Amino acid sequence: MQKQQAVKVLIDGAAGDLAFTYLVPEGVEALPGQRVRVPLRQRSALGTVTGLEWIDPAEAGYRLKPILGTVAGEPFLTPGLMKLAAWIAEFYLTPVEAVIRSMLPKPSRGEEEKRKTAKCVEAAVPPDADLLASFGARQARQREALELLAARGPLDLREMTGELGVPRSALKALEARGLVRVVERVVSRDPLSEVDYVESSPLALNEEQSAVLERIADASRRAEAGESARPVLLFGVTGSGKTEVYLQAIQRVVEAGKGAIVLVPEIALTPQTADRFKQRFAKIKDRVAILHSGLSEGERHDEWRKVLDQKARIVIGARSAIFSPVENLGLIVVDEEHENSYKQDTAPRYQARDIAVVRGWIEGCPVVLGSATPSLESWNNAATGKYELTTMLRRVDDRKLPLIRVVDMREEGRKSQSGPTILSTKLRTAMERRLADGGQTILFLNRRGFARNILCPECGYVATCRHCSTTLTLHRQDDRLVCHICGFSQLPPRQCPECSSRSIVNAGYGTERVEEVLRQVFPGAKISRVDTDTMRRKGQLRSTLDAFRARKIDILLGTQMIAKGLDFPNVTLVGVLNADVGLHIPDIRAGERTFQLLAQVAGRAGRGELEGEVVVQTYTPHHPAIQFARHHDFEGFAGQELELRRRFAHPPFAHLALVTSRSTHLERAEFSLKTLHARLKRHLPEGITLTEPLPSPLVKSHDQWRFQIVLKSTGARRLAAHLRETMKSLTFPDDVVVTVDIDPYSMA
Ligand code: ADP
Ligand code: ZN
Ligand code: ZN
Repeated sequence: MQKQQAVKVLIDGAAGDLAFTYLVPEGVEALPGQRVRVPLRQRSALGTVTGLEWIDPAEAGYRLKPILGTVAGEPFLTPGLMKLAAWIAEFYLTPVEAVIRSMLPKPSRGEEEKRKTAKCVEAAVPPDADLLASFGARQARQREALELLAARGPLDLREMTGELGVPRSALKALEARGLVRVVERVVSRDPLSEVDYVESSPLALNEEQSAVLERIADASRRAEAGESARPVLLFGVTGSGKTEVYLQAIQRVVEAGKGAIVLVPEIALTPQTADRFKQRFAKIKDRVAILHSGLSEGERHDEWRKVLDQKARIVIGARSAIFSPVENLGLIVVDEEHENSYKQDTAPRYQARDIAVVRGWIEGCPVVLGSATPSLESWNNAATGKYELTTMLRRVDDRKLPLIRVVDMREEGRKSQSGPTILSTKLRTAMERRLADGGQTILFLNRRGFARNILCPECGYVATCRHCSTTLTLHRQDDRLVCHICGFSQLPPRQCPECSSRSIVNAGYGTERVEEVLRQVFPGAKISRVDTDTMRRKGQLRSTLDAFRARKIDILLGTQMIAKGLDFPNVTLVGVLNADVGLHIPDIRAGERTFQLLAQVAGRAGRGELEGEVVVQTYTPHHPAIQFARHHDFEGFAGQELELRRRFAHPPFAHLALVTSRSTHLERAEFSLKTLHARLKRHLPEGITLTEPLPSPLVKSHDQWRFQIVLKSTGARRLAAHLRETMKSLTFPDDVVVTVDIDPYSMA
């Protein structure tokens, strides 16, 4: 018998990374990285081709079956991505097949695709001048609606009657006369295709910017010559013009016929960021793909497809965009590289910034990590020479960094008679000044909702979630108590469920409450609130930010949604309402996060011609994170913080692995982890330490009890290997899930 073409296929969802061999029928082409449908027992399954082989079916020892078909004519994963998948699987202790699946947008995996439809309004006859002239004065709204359709083409019904303000009655009248039609349509799949971008030209760089651009070009030349280039860490203060440097570096890459990937944190992937890229590359707008979670599955698939076909050569996206199938990659940029959102908190628990470095190394392409507050991991890598450090310490046009005033809220609290003080005298005065002189204010508070929790002063009762060990937050608009962990909600009690006291109170405050206070204190001001509660509708964030830019809003209040990446020249005041949120949590990065947040928020002030001012309200004014931030002293903060971390052998001087067990059954969750702990300890390799099994800080979440062990070592691979070996020999009860998180960001 003759040898036949066969493929090794990694089946989706199969435990233990099992690969099966299948024959490839005559006339079908299957390559590594290709998605295929194969017979598996009595059913069919999806999988990915990992390798090719020639095989003699007679010698196989079992009956070989042919694949049923391929998902598309070509492989979805480049050879580079296949290598990357293997790397991630090993480093993060995740099955390769799960890594591969997470690299592909859902519809592209070959699974069923959902298409969203919406009601659209379209003109039934071309609305020409004669027709428009036939409307009388009393039908002006009808004429306007037709003009709108003539100018912009078919429109979403909700948008027309909503934002565009066309009365329903006018549409009804037009429909009755047969002039417009309302039809069900597949939702537009290129969300930005209708927007016309005005091309922006490259700016003349200042000295610091030119120097950095040259260093990046050097790295490209070295990569081109096959030499290994170190990742470039760009430490540039807010407003130093980092984005402009990225844009020009990308332009060079594209002109050289190569592709680029730019990662931005999801939260910073605002319409404004996307626009800057679309504008610069307006001439080749179709070559820019934007991937973010606001897209529908279909839209995401289309953007991704443009990349796969190499039509789009510049990809801007959040975390998972690092897996974009860009061929002949010339540059990877990770903007705001310190951002925690680069770490994925579900399996595979990868850190996209680290993956960017690995991908750059696999593909031989330069990697630029940029930030005004680099992560201590990257800062340390620059100190040891693993990364190349470049700096931009001056703001464009030598604009000054804003003056930061720290307000001690303990003092304010003593002055005030009732409830928590939300606005200090200093902040209120500064805001009044802006309202008088036309300057704009951004207020920042990292907590949504109305009250942090509600409690009974008589007996100490606090409303908690019945599914999680956490308190419930009052959302007054919906009049619900909401769990921010699992989304559970209930009506707020009117009296204490424990002691029936009626003096139940709201403690702490969130953005919703602040908005109410602002409306009382500044009755004439135009105020807008930005958080996940108010920005549920698509396009709402964009229109709010546009209105703020157009100065139709005086005070913009929001959560971290407005802390990053926004650039409004007329903002001269930024207020941080409670800088302590996040400081007092059991997390080794608490100080680092607080410093980063203050530096980023402060960077929103004084980006135009006018000088900026920042008011930071805090209960711990002497905390190093707050003091260093006040002096804009990242290097001072990083130096002191690294010294502490070194002393305690915390990251970046060691790697951690967080092992968590969870189950609805408390004893089984605890017992499973204790068993694992005993095994891990029995053959503990040198250089690894581990904690006793303990309840997780969030001991109950989504009805599941959680326990944890933390392992520590200077070698991440050593940790992973020990865990892999130990867990291989153990089976846990069906209702217990054990997860491993290498280099965890959240210990909760
Ligand atoms: P960063 O990303 O470092 O915070 P940006 O790239 O957003 O800084 O730049 C801040 C502002 O300065 C932007 O409005 C940008 O258009 C402008 N800018 C950047 N580089 C220059 C330059 N060389 N000349 C003039 N303006 C510049
Ligand atoms: Zn009570
Ligand atoms: Zn809950």
